[in-house]
Amino acid sequence: MARNIGSSCRLCRRENLKLFLKGDRCYGDKCAFERRPYAPGQHGQRRAGKYSDYRVQLREKQKVKRIYGLLEKQFRGYYYRAERQKGITGTNLLILLESRLDNIVYRMGFSSSRNQARQMVMHNHFIVNNREVNIPSYQVKPGDVVEVKEKSRKIPHILEAMETVVRRGIPNWIEIEKDKFKGVLESIPNREDLTMPIQEQLIIELYSK
Ligand code: SF4
Repeated sequence: MARNIGSSCRLCRRENLKLFLKGDRCYGDKCAFERRPYAPGQHGQRRAGKYSDYRVQLREKQKVKRIYGLLEKQFRGYYYRAERQKGITGTNLLILLESRLDNIVYRMGFSSSRNQARQMVMHNHFIVNNREVNIPSYQVKPGDVVEVKEKSRKIPHILEAMETVVRRGIPNWIEIEKDKFKGVLESIPNREDLTMPIQEQLIIELYSK
């Protein structure tokens, strides 16, 4: 599966926002954005001028794409799906992204980042509704039970993530049974439950040109 293999921290610095792409490191003083809170590259420290509408929309799209670790083609595919659904396209888009299995694994606290969640899903460490699923983009539905496989319950990455998840918290639309290594997607999140600083309307404006 294609993925972004460049430096994650450069992405945060480019978007001028902590995207929390590296798990634990993002919360410590080793965070590159905390140390150098300006864009990467030779001209990164230049004062920003006035941004065109297009540039603002483009940056918003890049930011969301990077939060969820997607490439352009996959992300655009989600936009088209969101557009075909009933309701507000921007909200539909965010919900589709949030329902990805790798995101749900991360939200449940079984991994410390979405990247790590994607890796672990592909390596067959999870079951959904008693069936093995190794597709990170698998859409989890309300009521679905996501569980760490019995043989994977001693993996240090998973155990560490479950210990440190208190720092970011488990969203209220997810129910966790920590001792059983499983969680349930209780309901689809409302837009107000998604607290990341995202202006999805800008993305819709960009794609509907
Ligand atoms: Fe971003 Fe995390 Fe790197 Fe900080 S440590 S710059 S939040 S990826």
